[in-house]
Amino acid sequence: MARIVLLLGLVVLALFWALGRRRGPTGSGRSPQAPTGRASEPRTMVRCARCGLHLPQTEAVQDSTGHWFCSEAHRAQGAAE
Ligand SMILES: [Zn+2]
Repeated sequence: MARIVLLLGLVVLALFWALGRRRGPTGSGRSPQAPTGRASEPRTMVRCARCGLHLPQTEAVQDSTGHWFCSEAHRAQGAAE
C-alpha cells in the first residue's frame, strides 16, 4: 500500500513539473495573432529551384520571379530547367 501512495506522489510531482515547464519563462511574449505559437513553431519550408534542397523560408533566397533558392550562388545560376 505504501508503494502505491509513493507512486501516486511521484506521478503528481511529475505532473506539476510538466505544467511548470510548459508555462516556463517564455510564456509571456506570445502574440495574440498566433494561437499555435509555442516554442517549436512550424516553419514554412521552401524548395531550392536549382538543386531541389528543402530549407526554411527564413534561410532561403528569393529572386524577382518568385523562385526560392538555398544560397546566393544558386540564385545567380537561376532555376533549373
Ligand atoms: Zn540549391
